[in-house]
Amino acid sequence: MAFPVTRLRRLRRTAQLRDMVRETRLTPDSLVYPMFVCPGEGVRKEVRSMPGVFNLSVDEAVKEAQEAHSVGVPAVILFGLPEEKDEVASGAWADDGIVQRAARALKRAVPDLVLLGDVCLCEYMSHGHCGIVKAAPQSLGAAARDAMNSARVVAVKGKKEKEKAIARLAAVATRALEANYEIDNDASLELLARTAVSLTRAGIDMIAPSDMMDGRVGAIRKALDGAGFSNTPILSYAAKFASGFYGPFREAADSAPQFGDRRSYQMDGANVREAMREIELDIEEGADMIMVKPAMPYLDVIAAARARFDVPLAAYQVSGEYAMIEAAAGNHWIERDRVMMESLVSIRRAGASIILTYYAKQAAKALA
Ligand SMILES: [Zn+2]
Repeated sequence: MAFPVTRLRRLRRTAQLRDMVRETRLTPDSLVYPMFVCPGEGVRKEVRSMPGVFNLSVDEAVKEAQEAHSVGVPAVILFGLPEEKDEVASGAWADDGIVQRAARALKRAVPDLVLLGDVCLCEYMSHGHCGIVKAAPQSLGAAARDAMNSARVVAVKGKKEKEKAIARLAAVATRALEANYEIDNDASLELLARTAVSLTRAGIDMIAPSDMMDGRVGAIRKALDGAGFSNTPILSYAAKFASGFYGPFREAADSAPQFGDRRSYQMDGANVREAMREIELDIEEGADMIMVKPAMPYLDVIAAARARFDVPLAAYQVSGEYAMIEAAAGNHWIERDRVMMESLVSIRRAGASIILTYYAKQAAKALA
């Protein structure tokens, strides 16, 4: 039946009618609040690129978690900024690691709050990568090419030409250095599993591996079961894309890689079929819940995952998504609260039942 019999505007006429026919509803039960815990006492340091988000010492994290819980946020996910970083990510799996200390304090202070523990190594590694870095043997070809370029610099005459040649050589050397390391997948699994067990022992309720090493869900499941934690669920960052939207997080968690980038383990943003394979493998390895990250630029991936898999699906509205809204709202270019809710509803509508968001507190208040 077409116009004029059918008029879709009839059901949009009043707020009550719109409420009645709304298809997607957001509730605070689906929100997870990310928190960054740092050493010290009384520390509450705002992240420059994320207004309203802080690095918090354990005592301040307790206050923040109490507030989040009191406005209806049921869960937080913890990230740690350790005192020291090294080549084996000791801070990630040490019994007195920063997240372990925070977990114990939070469990005592807010026992009903669900604690998720992000499991990755980048925040604890001196090089900032998510796994163990090993040097790849330089190929003979690359060595010969470097040598030839050095020879060319010497042979060039004229100051300007020489400077240009040196710049070219420097670029070649940088590329060679970057190509000259490898993230050791299988060796990293042991540290990730150790981290998961250590966090669970400290009171973390749900383990959320974000490293994107192959086989890590299986390795973590096996380690948790072996340590007597067969009831601890795993929320895997199953489809985590190498994204420019993580920029502000790297400042918040001090986890930017010192060389190279993460494209050899995080996913290519162009691939949705591969995302389905990543998710399928994680479920096979024992993931209880899966996640797509980031959220807004990957709503189609969320929708595809929802259509295909029957496990609870989460999405992470990442730092860059938050920072863009905050920057525009700070300039009065958009209405913060309206855009915040619209962005969260869009993630829900795409099919994610659980949303990790820096807006968790504000959204829960708005929904109360
Ligand atoms: Zn990482």
